[in-house]
Amino acid sequence: MLNLTMNSQAGIGYKSSAQIARRITESWGSENLYCVCCNNPRINSTKTNFRAADFRCPGCNALYEMKSGKRWDENRVPDSGYASMMNALTSDRVPNLFVMQYSNNWTVRNLLLVPSFFFSPAAIEKRKPLGLGARRAGWVGCNILLSKIADAGKIRLVKDGLAEPIDRIRSNYQRIRPLARIGTEARGWTLDVLNVVERLGRRDFDLTDIYAHEGEFAALRPTNMNIRPKLRQQMQVLRDMGFIRFKGRGQYRLND
Ligand SMILES: [Zn+2]
Repeated sequence: MLNLTMNSQAGIGYKSSAQIARRITESWGSENLYCVCCNNPRINSTKTNFRAADFRCPGCNALYEMKSGKRWDENRVPDSGYASMMNALTSDRVPNLFVMQYSNNWTVRNLLLVPSFFFSPAAIEKRKPLGLGARRAGWVGCNILLSKIADAGKIRLVKDGLAEPIDRIRSNYQRIRPLARIGTEARGWTLDVLNVVERLGRRDFDLTDIYAHEGEFAALRPTNMNIRPKLRQQMQVLRDMGFIRFKGRGQYRLND
């Protein structure tokens, strides 16, 4: 089980509150976080200006980024540059993402992990360019829209101050891992369809429930004229990966 108390001493010697928080959360991560992709009990801080990620697993080389703060917003997490994010997405180089909330007395309140292969372009929101007065005027950042990421891809290591057993976290990860084998472009479809299925809010549904969201898919892919066949194909992919079951006659059931 994770130790949820952070060592505030790690922030001593740093001036700005952002630097202090970064130092304390990073130090906690490198002492407590474990690799979800393999059985390694630790992940190492990448420390010096390695821009691609904050932690690396010494066992399997999985990369992890961590965004943390006192606020908890399950809809939107500010991330880095929009262009570099979209680039990383197309070339399948997005790190796994930890989103953490901590309290005023430096204890971990919430911690969730979005595996690298759960990001789709639909979950990346372009921000307005920074104004002329800013140090990096014109720079365009992005937000990660957690609300557009399927629930299966939000693994909760800590929820409201309670840590989940490590075994359960790793088995949740293994269950969704087959998605990583699909190429990035096809995977975007699978993830968006899975998100729609989950948002229906019920276990049993049919093809017309999915077709009702045809407009959303069309808006994301204006050049695609074959949305419905694609949606049917994605139902098969979700079935083959164990997310849903076919009950016959266009009826489906979401698996636990
Ligand atoms: Zn690992």
